[in-house]
Amino acid sequence: MASITYAVLGAGVIGLSTAIELKTRFPDAKVIIAAKYFPGDRSIKYCSPWAGANWLSIATEDQVLHEWEAETYRRLQTIATSVPEAAVTKMDIHAFYDSPPEQAGIFAPGSKKLWYEDLVGGVSQIANADLATGAQFGYVIPTFMINTQGYLAWLNTECLRLGIEMRRSSFDDIRDFFHAVPANAYFNCTGLGSYHLKGVEDKALYPTKGQIMLVESPKVQLEHMYLRSPKRVDSDTTYVFPRNPSGGVILGGCRIDNDWSDKIDIDLAEDIKRRCCALAPELGKPEDLKVVYHCVGLRPGREGGPRMESEVMGGHLVIHNYGASGAGYQASWGMAQKAVDIMQQISQSNL
Ligand code: FAD
Repeated sequence: MASITYAVLGAGVIGLSTAIELKTRFPDAKVIIAAKYFPGDRSIKYCSPWAGANWLSIATEDQVLHEWEAETYRRLQTIATSVPEAAVTKMDIHAFYDSPPEQAGIFAPGSKKLWYEDLVGGVSQIANADLATGAQFGYVIPTFMINTQGYLAWLNTECLRLGIEMRRSSFDDIRDFFHAVPANAYFNCTGLGSYHLKGVEDKALYPTKGQIMLVESPKVQLEHMYLRSPKRVDSDTTYVFPRNPSGGVILGGCRIDNDWSDKIDIDLAEDIKRRCCALAPELGKPEDLKVVYHCVGLRPGREGGPRMESEVMGGHLVIHNYGASGAGYQASWGMAQKAVDIMQQISQSNL
């Protein structure tokens, strides 16, 4: 019988990755995930199903984020090459920016090099003649497309394969979680849920609403992803992600801070179609696009960045691991690794 138990609250990409990291490092421990929503569920209170998603760093000079995203890039590389059922595809992105390079929010101050150039094996500058109309510059970046439906399903299956226990429960108060699931350490991976979760009630969290749609595959196959934006992080970012392997294309997007609603804006959807067709000729005309569904998701934004730290609450060790904003997929494995490192260091220092 396992003598050590670790309990994870939350089954989004962060909670599932953290549970897998725990069970992989401590195979003899019992790992339990408790959550209201699991892969397959859809709710405005569950961000992970609604992401695009890809790996394209938003970080510029934050070394901590660099480490988390670099670790995740390396893991995605392995997953893309050896686990076809995980629905992660190695794919270039053509990223166009409408601002001059020094104002596009992609370099650390004083630098003219993307921090991840070496990590991804080099990027190439897009020739002026091939830039999207009006764009100032652009790069071709080798990266990954993550089909979130397939990837979450795979993470879920991985948890089951590893013997991780799952419990569907919601808690108004994190202290109720401690009583319901006795454990040696707790991982708080509740995303935006920590805004309301009593005992945590982190008011630095805020939603950044995104709206996307899935359209049927166009007649002309897309060979790469597209992104166009005034700056790397902007409310008018346009993106086109072919959703391998099941087909279809994700079109986005928008970023609206502090909007908690699940309302789909049809005028915005028409604008997204128009922007995407102008960017990716393979899509054809906006009126020819066949929409499978529209959806919105709330990125777990947090002033000051993600919360990654330990806290002792009523004698219980809690590692907070939430607030990934628009980078939860691309930082997931690095965040999982760091959260488990923190727990391990504290456990060893208490021996
Ligand atoms: P969630 O997925 O929200 O999971 C939270 C979990 O906690 C759920 O299981 C929930 O049920 C549980 N929970 C919360 N409170 C409680 C409670 N009180 N009791 C019990 N359970 C609770 N990221 C990228 O890296 N790349 C992208 O290209 C990208 N594109 C995006 C595009 C859009 C339109 C959106 C909306 C997001 C995008 N993101 C992207 C961001 C990414 O989706 C999020 O960072 C990530 O999903 C956050 O995951 P999470 O596990 O922290 O939270």
